[in-house]
Amino acid sequence: MANLIFDLDNTLYPRHPEIEAEFGIRTKEYLSRMPAAGFTDKEFDWVEISTRIEDYLGRIFAGREQERCAYLDYVCRVNVKDLAPNPELNTFLKILPDTKYIFTDSTLEHVKDTLNVLGIELNHFTGIFGNKDSGFRFKSNPQCHRIFLEKYGLEPRECYLFDDNPRNLLPAAQLGIKTVLISGQGGQESASDYQFSDVLTALKQLF
Ligand SMILES: [Mg+2]
Repeated sequence: MANLIFDLDNTLYPRHPEIEAEFGIRTKEYLSRMPAAGFTDKEFDWVEISTRIEDYLGRIFAGREQERCAYLDYVCRVNVKDLAPNPELNTFLKILPDTKYIFTDSTLEHVKDTLNVLGIELNHFTGIFGNKDSGFRFKSNPQCHRIFLEKYGLEPRECYLFDDNPRNLLPAAQLGIKTVLISGQGGQESASDYQFSDVLTALKQLF
């Protein structure tokens, strides 16, 4: 049996630009109300910041763990109510015998809210691992993957990671995890082992 590790956003549901943008809007809102961040509007380009988010937030929240948790909870309260339910994915996850995990840079509350709207039952998953569990490391950092594997006692070669972000798949591949890029409609240049338009197609093809 394999261990199937799923990213949440833009992986367990089709790419949703509004939700993606809302993470940026909420980040900006939070930081602009936080004097210690020394935040100025002009500098804020979410698409660019997303590519170096761990360093960016690490500097702002150094020595401010409590504030960091409050920030994370605030930012992850995005509106997911418009996502379409996916009963077929729920059924497929239910019948697949492999062990399943959610591995996200967000919060447990965001996972619960999102799965609830998608109609995917929480009890399919043996573990849900979020940004707090990795000590605020992000999945672009190999150490985040090591902490995840260690927490659940998993062998990398028995694992598949499904993620829409090639930056998250690269460190996983380097650790020996099989990587599955969920790429929406457009083809994307990627060094992943597999590439599919959506997670249900990926599961049907691979398992
Ligand atoms: Mg994602």
